[in-house]
Amino acid sequence: MNEVHRIDLPRAVLVGRGVLNLIGEVCQEFALKRVLIVTGRITYTVAGERALVLLGERDIEAEAVHVNRADMDTVDGVEEKASQFRADALMGVGGGRSIDVAKLSAARGGKPFISVPTAASHDGIASSSASVKGLGRPYSMKAKAPIAVIADSRIIAESPYRFTASGCGDVISKAVAVRDWRLANSERGEYYGEYAGSLALMSSSLVMKSARQIRDRLEEGYRTLMEALVSCGVAMSIAGSSRPCSGSEHLFSHALDMLAPRPALHGEQCGVGTIMMARLHGLDWRSIKEHLEVIGAPTTAEELGVSREVVVEALVKAGDIRPERYTILNKVNLNPESAEDLARGCGVV
Ligand code: ZN
Repeated sequence: MNEVHRIDLPRAVLVGRGVLNLIGEVCQEFALKRVLIVTGRITYTVAGERALVLLGERDIEAEAVHVNRADMDTVDGVEEKASQFRADALMGVGGGRSIDVAKLSAARGGKPFISVPTAASHDGIASSSASVKGLGRPYSMKAKAPIAVIADSRIIAESPYRFTASGCGDVISKAVAVRDWRLANSERGEYYGEYAGSLALMSSSLVMKSARQIRDRLEEGYRTLMEALVSCGVAMSIAGSSRPCSGSEHLFSHALDMLAPRPALHGEQCGVGTIMMARLHGLDWRSIKEHLEVIGAPTTAEELGVSREVVVEALVKAGDIRPERYTILNKVNLNPESAEDLARGCGVV
């Protein structure tokens, strides 16, 4: 029998100023009658409350549930709430946490999920994987891709700029992730999807090309970033795994999450990891660093708020976090000395 390659993609992606206003119409298109909105305390005032009103205007029953953590207890609670409310879809309105909790609760309850990001901080807004604590591992878990993504650039432009810079770091990191994937293909015979890989790479180079527009907070820059984040989610759906979007630089970020007393944002850590892993790959790491600097994303341990010791330890441990994921770290095998040389060589410490 031929191997079946199934790709689940969002059916509607709306990016632009004021698209939040179309939320009711989109839900009507999908014939939704009862929607549970998963949101946070601040994001409720930013967009959640407005979403409730807009759905109400279209005679869609909607209720909001507030979450302040992304852990399995919260996911269980939301899943139960969704079944009590007899929701026919879950809508995540927020940054990372609300989206992740809604996505995983929806997948577990067998319900569709709609993504309404209020910040552009990471590529989870359109992906099929969710990052939730309490899974016994630091990386994400497979859920389901959203049926719709509604990314209002006006709302995203008003979010703290740090989130935007972090989202750029997450997208730029694909330059290394795809290299790691190709390496796994050539050294281990792992499946490599040219299409998914190219899409992730293109997103990375487009965001680097738009660095100044993003820094200047131009509408065009935000749009490029949002489309890149959505495209990364699509690349993962096409690949059937996070491979095109997560390599050694993500392993470094996961290691920091475990080791740092106060980790930085996911995309900020991935950006710094990308500089160092690009050097290991023999890529133009200086250019990556310069683009991150233009955007205003961290490029050093100090800017991440993490000590030199923790960066070195994270570099050494990163390769062991996800043994099934072959990356440059399996080939190079950093020890404390070579890890410190690498971090110094790139000006990270
Ligand atoms: Zn990421």
